[in-house]
Order: sequence, then structure tokens, then C-alpha cells
Amino acid sequence: MSDSTARHVVKPALNLTLQGIAGSPGIAIGKAYLVEQEDVDVIEKRFVEPEDIAAEIRRFRGAVKKAQRQLQRVIDEVPEEFRDHIYILDAHMMLLKDKMIHNGTIEHIERENVNAEWALKMAVDEVKSIFKKMPDPYFRERASDVTHASKLILGNLLGTGSSNISHIDKRVIVVAHDLSPAETTQMQLEKVKAFLTDLGGKTSHTGIIARSLEIPAVLGLGNAKQLIKTDDLLIVDGSAGVVILDPDEETLTRYQERKDLFEQYQAMITRSSHLPAETTDGFCLMVMANIGLLEDVVSVIDHGGDGIGLYRTEFLYLNRPTLPSEQDLFDNYRDVAEIMAPRTVTIRTLDIGGDKFASGLQLAEEMNPALGLRAIRFSLWSPEIFKTQLRAILRAANLGNVRIMFPMISEVDEIIQAKQMLNEAAESLDKAGVPFRADIEVGAMIEVPSAVIMADVLAREVDFFSIGTNDLIQYSLAIDRINKQVAHLYQPLHPAVLRMIQRVVEAAREAGIQVYMCGEMAGDPVNLPVLLGMELDAISMNPISIPVVKKMVRMLSLKESKQFLKEALKQVTAADVLNLIQDTYGPSFPKTDFFQPSQD
Ligand code: PEP
Ligand code: MG
Repeated sequence: MSDSTARHVVKPALNLTLQGIAGSPGIAIGKAYLVEQEDVDVIEKRFVEPEDIAAEIRRFRGAVKKAQRQLQRVIDEVPEEFRDHIYILDAHMMLLKDKMIHNGTIEHIERENVNAEWALKMAVDEVKSIFKKMPDPYFRERASDVTHASKLILGNLLGTGSSNISHIDKRVIVVAHDLSPAETTQMQLEKVKAFLTDLGGKTSHTGIIARSLEIPAVLGLGNAKQLIKTDDLLIVDGSAGVVILDPDEETLTRYQERKDLFEQYQAMITRSSHLPAETTDGFCLMVMANIGLLEDVVSVIDHGGDGIGLYRTEFLYLNRPTLPSEQDLFDNYRDVAEIMAPRTVTIRTLDIGGDKFASGLQLAEEMNPALGLRAIRFSLWSPEIFKTQLRAILRAANLGNVRIMFPMISEVDEIIQAKQMLNEAAESLDKAGVPFRADIEVGAMIEVPSAVIMADVLAREVDFFSIGTNDLIQYSLAIDRINKQVAHLYQPLHPAVLRMIQRVVEAAREAGIQVYMCGEMAGDPVNLPVLLGMELDAISMNPISIPVVKKMVRMLSLKESKQFLKEALKQVTAADVLNLIQDTYGPSFPKTDFFQPSQD
């Protein structure tokens, strides 16, 4: 073959599909840009002579100080679009001062006569292992914060420069092993078409940031960084968690069409997300949001949330050496209440304990954390911590439309005791002359089977119920909600689950109180005909699911859904219920909304 012929041979496209985790929906087509990063897993262990230990500790302290200065510079220069996420960088600053990392490293240097890099790695591994044991995936994911913060120190110890992240000068798909919030902040985001990472899950910061900036992302790809080179052509489908490396013409055309459709769909959804979710026969379902941070409120408003159905308040107790003060809590709750007013904000009291770790709390390890001292049990067990939170909630209630709910109620006494403490908190505020609101609505989360059975009794004590299906399914079907091996058995449409929901709704109706649902089940449109048929007063979900769910509600009728529910309740398996949904509403239901964020 002559040279000139060889030049005309076209290499067939690789068309290699990589499957990861759908981090942020949307489609991007473009060239890859690999972020150069230090491989922190390859750290050498060196022994340090006893007379050099003090110098080694000084070297470590110097690296920490320098990391703090570097991070402060990043914080000071945070671009406008990142202001909402600055709390992440503040948390990293706190981690740089964290005693377990700081003192832990120094202890390793002193005890084992090792170099600072190795000692830091050991201390960081210890802290990460605590995070990784937490049952809630959100908190497990926080282990990556420890890695990101410690990487700054390590970079200074090793004397390596920062990554090439701030040099991106054309619109690219960023490919990284992992991305720290500090790194993400330094990128010119208008240049980023999509994010791909080997590590990270749905609740990683890259996922949270990408979703709020509406940049497609596929995370947890495992080895994308090995397979992809800078300038490779990529298709990213952030809704399906798929990446196609070196696509052929036909695939490119298909995805270009899908991208156009997605953009039209997004525009339509955004236009309609602020309309009420009213069925074709005039029933209005409140569609609310679940949040975990003050910063999520922006996304709730952008996505047309009718209020906050669940504010998970754990975050303020994490990543800090001491417990938050009443003022810290009040400031946070007040901001949420004021921004959302006049819409409702449902503050759930602390759901921590067992394996959910808060650095300010000294809790014993438990064999069965999901069945242990968590949620309301923990709060009743530590009245001072509980009352501090109750006082903050009552004070915030004076400045917005706030109601309170207690998690994991398993018997009526817990509600009675919690209400008693709420009264005591109110009395103490009254005595101190601090403004507050006493007559706030009080609710119970229904997430334990005993609460379902006793719902009629519990209903006499509260103003509303909120069904927490994440735990209710776990406890009633005996499926650990974080165990991948039994994940296929975790079925929201299981007839046992449907019957329990129906029972709770009936008890609420009998007692004349409202009933909501705030578990993940509420945010998956496939469950809508059933939930609508139950005539729940409100459903609450991840903010980004709201527009899709509202749109689906507008396509259904209450009357037909009630009829449908009767049939659904006759089914004997979850698969039967799903088949019935698809037979009744069309084989692609709810895939008409194929861009909906995946629920995994
Ligand atoms: C639930 O259990 O359904 C719930 C909403 O609470 P969490 O997921 O925070 O346990
Ligand atoms: Mg729960």
C-alpha cells in the first residue's frame, strides 16, 4: 500500500459504550479534556529518624497552613454562579482544621516514625472509614470531602502543582478521576459541556453542583480516565448514565436528535413547572421538595416546588467538632422559612444516631444501626440537643410558614413525649422573652410498620402524617435500603406497601388530618396513578423531579386514578401492579418522559 492510499483509509469508529451513574440529566456531544491530577493512592512510606520527627511535624503544619491559604483564595475568588455552593468549600476549610485529621496525622508521625504524607494518608483513611459506614448514601459520599480537603495538604507536602483545570479554553467535556469542589470552582463553567468522573455517586458534590447548574454528568465510571484521551469525541447521556467513546455517524445523528428533543422538553418543562399540578378533572396535588441544605431552596423555587415537604436537618450537625448552637440552627431555619414564605417548610427533627455519625456526638457503635438509637429515639434520649433544635424551630416559625415533624415514630408515647418537650421549649422561650410561634402544626413520619398499624391512634395526636417510604419499605419488606444485593427486592409497588399506604391515608381521613408522602417513591412518575388514586394531600421529592411529576399529574384524572387504584390493590405482586400501570396507561408509561432524572 502506498503512502497516499494509507492516508485515505478511515479507521472504523470505536463506538464504545461506558456505563456509569446518571449524575445530572442532559446530553452533550463534544471533545474530551482530561484533567491532570496527582495519583494520591501512590504514596511512599518512609521512616523518619527520631531526631527529625519535630521537623516532619513542622513540615506537615506548614502544608496545612498553606492549604488553608490556598483554599481561602479559592473561596475569595469564587465566581458568581458558585456562590450557592460556597458552603462546600467552607466545609472543606473546616476539614483542614479537623482534629481527627490534624492530630491523627501528628500522632502517626510521632508513634510510627513515618513521613507526613504517609501519616496523613493513614489519618484520612481512618476518618473516611467512619463516613463510609454511614447508612445514608448522602453521608457516605461525604468521605470524598475528606479526600478532597486532604489532597490540598498532600499537594503541598509533595510539592506538586495544581491541576490544569483553570486552563480550559474551549468548550469541552471534562474527564477526571474525581473532582473536588475547589477544582470545579476554578473551572470556567461556560466552557464545560459535561462532567465525567471515575469516582462519585449521585450525591457527590460533582453531582449536586452539575444538577444545580444543569450541566450533564456521568459519575462513577470506574476507568473512564484510562480509556479516554484528550480530544476524543464523546457523547454523554447524563439521564441514562451512558458515555459513548468515538461514536459512529449513525449514533451521532441519533444522539443529536435526542439532544434537540431534550432541549425542547426542558424548555417546555421549565415554562410549565410553576403552574399548579392540577389533574384533568380539577384536583390539585401539592408537589413539594425534599431538601438537605439551605442552598437547595434555590433549586426548589426554580423547579416550581409548592413548598418544602421534608427538610432533612442532619447536615448542620456533621463535619464539625461541636454541636450547632440554637443560634446556628435558628439562622439556618429562618433563612429557609423566609425565602420560601408564604409556602410551607416542613422541618424534620434530627434523624441521626446509630451509624449516622456526627463528630460532636459520642455514640456507641451498634450491631443493627437501622434498628438502634436513631431519629426520635436519639432525640428523646438526649433532651438538651432536642430542645435546642425545638427552640430554633419555634423561633423560625415566627418568621415563615413552618411546621415540624418527628421521624421514625413507632409508638404513640414518642409523640406525646416529643410534644411535651416542644411545650417545654416554648415555655423557656416565653420566659426568656424571645419571639416565637407556639401554635405550629406537628406531624409524625410514618415509616415503621407499627406506626401504620396504629395510625388511627397516632392520628389523634398530630396535625398531619408524612409517609417515609424509604424506611417504610426497608422495615416492612425487611430490605436493607443500602444493600445492593437485595436492591431488586426493594419494591415501592409491592402490594404490602400499597396496602400500608392506603391504611395510613384512611386513618388520616377518619381523623380529619392531612397526609403526605416524602419518600423517594413519591418522585417517580411511574407510581403516580397509584398515589393520585390514594388522594394524598401532597407529595414531596428531590427538586429536579418536580417539573416532570407536575406535568404527569396534569395528564391524569383523579376519578380514573381512584378507579385504577381499586384494581391495583387487587394485584398480588409488584410486577402485576407495574404491568397493570403499563396496560392501563400505555406500554411506555412513564417513559413518555424518558429524560426524567433516574431514581437510583
Ligand atoms: C424516608 O424514610 O422515606 C424518608 C423520607 O426519610 P430518610 O430517607 O431521610 O430516612
Ligand atoms: Mg426515613
